[in-house]
Amino acid sequence: MARLNADLVDVLGSTAKAFDKAFGYRTVADVLAHYPRRLAERGKLSDLADLAVDDDVTVLAEVRSCAVVRNRSGRGARLEVDVGDGRGTLRLTFFGKYEKALQWRADELRPGVRGLFAGKVGVFNRTRQLTHPEYVILDGDSSNSVDWAGELIPVYPATKDLRSWTIAKSIRLTLDTLDLDGDPIPRPVRDRNRLVDLGAALDQIHRPRSWGAWDEAQRRLRFEEALSIQVALARRRAIAAGDPAIARPPTAGGLRSEFECRLPFTLTAGQLAVGETLAAELAREHPMQRLLQGEVGSGKTIVALLAMLQVVDGGGQTALLAPTEVLAVQHARTIEGLLGDLAQGGRLGGSERATRVALLTGSLPAAARRAALLDAASGAAGIVVGTHALIQEQVQFADLGLVVVDEQHRFGVEQRDALREKASRPPHVLVMTATPIPRTVAMTVFGDLETSVLRELPRGRSPIATTVVATQEKPAWLERAWERIIEEVAAGRQAYVVCPRIGDGGAETDEVEADDDSDRRAPVAVLDALAMLADGPLKGLRVAALHGRLPAEEKEAVMRAFSEHEIDVLVATTVIEVGVDVPNASVMVVLDADRFGISQLHQLRGRVGRGTAAGVCLLVTDSPSGTPARERLDAVAATSDGFELAELDVQLRREGDILGAAQSGRRTQLKLLSLLRDGELIKQAREEAIALIASDPELADHPLLAAQVEQLLSAERAEYLQKA
Ligand code: ADP
Ligand code: MG
Repeated sequence: MARLNADLVDVLGSTAKAFDKAFGYRTVADVLAHYPRRLAERGKLSDLADLAVDDDVTVLAEVRSCAVVRNRSGRGARLEVDVGDGRGTLRLTFFGKYEKALQWRADELRPGVRGLFAGKVGVFNRTRQLTHPEYVILDGDSSNSVDWAGELIPVYPATKDLRSWTIAKSIRLTLDTLDLDGDPIPRPVRDRNRLVDLGAALDQIHRPRSWGAWDEAQRRLRFEEALSIQVALARRRAIAAGDPAIARPPTAGGLRSEFECRLPFTLTAGQLAVGETLAAELAREHPMQRLLQGEVGSGKTIVALLAMLQVVDGGGQTALLAPTEVLAVQHARTIEGLLGDLAQGGRLGGSERATRVALLTGSLPAAARRAALLDAASGAAGIVVGTHALIQEQVQFADLGLVVVDEQHRFGVEQRDALREKASRPPHVLVMTATPIPRTVAMTVFGDLETSVLRELPRGRSPIATTVVATQEKPAWLERAWERIIEEVAAGRQAYVVCPRIGDGGAETDEVEADDDSDRRAPVAVLDALAMLADGPLKGLRVAALHGRLPAEEKEAVMRAFSEHEIDVLVATTVIEVGVDVPNASVMVVLDADRFGISQLHQLRGRVGRGTAAGVCLLVTDSPSGTPARERLDAVAATSDGFELAELDVQLRREGDILGAAQSGRRTQLKLLSLLRDGELIKQAREEAIALIASDPELADHPLLAAQVEQLLSAERAEYLQKA
């Protein structure tokens, strides 16, 4: 009998090697967690109509015809077997030296015979085919028959060397020798949530007696995944909540109140409410752990700055972590601008209580870097703004009291931790994101944080009119788009032209979210668009390019020139997506807009209409009306509600993309759990997890669950180390 942690070799012998090679599996647990992709029904044939070329498939089909054909060259022969499902057909081709050599196969694959066929879909003479597929016959008595008793046949993710039926057989063997030492989900939790026990779940996921049993097994295994994640998160929260932190209550007559008096506008109700929450949490002796969601332009930065000043008043420093260099520079400049003489500490003309803002990025000249490091270490800089360069070892703080992470979706928990560790006592943490996060993702990926939301945009913000420019149907509209830019520039305003790609060969670094079909034309590149526009429709305007491959100084220079209105039109990649703030920019033309994700487009258009002029966003696409790509663009044009678009985005995207966007280490951890579908289950698991941790913080009474959680965390750490 074999335990879950037993070596696979002890159970499967030499086949274990194939599992290791194909999937990296070493233990019984590994192979039992290789769940079927789907079930084939003995009585039902696979849908052959939508097999995609190049896919590695396993299909259940019935032989329709079978013929040995001599090759036209006169040399050799082939066996052509057509299998069908009543709707589509698929040809199986086997080559042989001579006709006789193919006869035994022809006898085996007689019309009417049903089998599982596996191989890579190719095309020949406009017919989809599998060349030399591997197969097993379902009924019948040939050497190739499968010894499968059930009506439901599991179809596994398989490889060329390890076919679905071999996997099935090995797993059955493993199940037969399995000796479980308990169940990680405690009995009462199982009872409350009507979950089958682990043994039954493993058995029924791999050899289901009915669809119902399969569903039950899946639900139980999904719950277990959700529970492990939620227990890990609940523990993080509990530990953080128990950590001692330095309380930084508001100080009368400090920088914060001074700054509040000077604000050139009144805060929105939302900003006030969140501001109060943060002020109260910073005043506690345990670290704040908060996520602030708010659309681009909702005024998060001001709210964060108030919190930062409160901490500076309390004698602490704050670190503001930005995902890109452009954004870090922008933040430092904005904050310095807002603070005025309050940020000129120790300098002539600085206010008496003034502090300093230091900027730390990877590409600083050595002298500037030394100065910034010194300001951080000495405490002279109350606010240190930077990219991930802040996480590096050499960076030290005199007294780090608050960590603010902007645009969190690009940072992992581990990076947050690395920064936290720079404080002598756990600092308060504020995470800000402009991408509205769907609820289940928030619960799973940011489940260790409390959430606040800024829903309204500050009054006086101009609306952004978004229009889809469909060049297939209305080619003249593109001309009109360029004219629009010329008009705005003539009125003294500025424009963006956004492209999905940098161009000029080199490695593309500025990512675009939407997935690319390989057979489509390459998307428009910044460098090509720049050349085309500067010499064509936008001749005479001051046009410049901005993208991630420019050296940092040049990027900085272009940004500055644009914000000082020395440039009229910025042709750029998504580097402008995060945080670029030029209120005078009023038009944005997005080329090949269908190559961007919904949320990304929404984020991008937030760059215009930040001043007094109404914003205009033109989404240029050549995708025909009625296609999914067009539907996405129409949705973006139809609503300005980022949360609505985020939920839509989730529905249209695939799971991996959602997690990918959230940059969580959980991507490989989720096997059955779906953040799209399992919202309710995740919520239940979260409640159970919170209760479990409350009554047994160390999971002393639940060693199996503790082990499960530990495994999850160590896999995440490993993934993080790999990325770092
Ligand atoms: P976010 O960081 O959420 O994108 P910001 O804090 O950068 O938003 O604010 C966007 C712009 O709106 C900035 O120019 C900021 O000064 C301005 N702003 C912020 N709050 C208000 C407000 N209550 N009223 C008017 N303007 C505001
Ligand atoms: Mg911002």
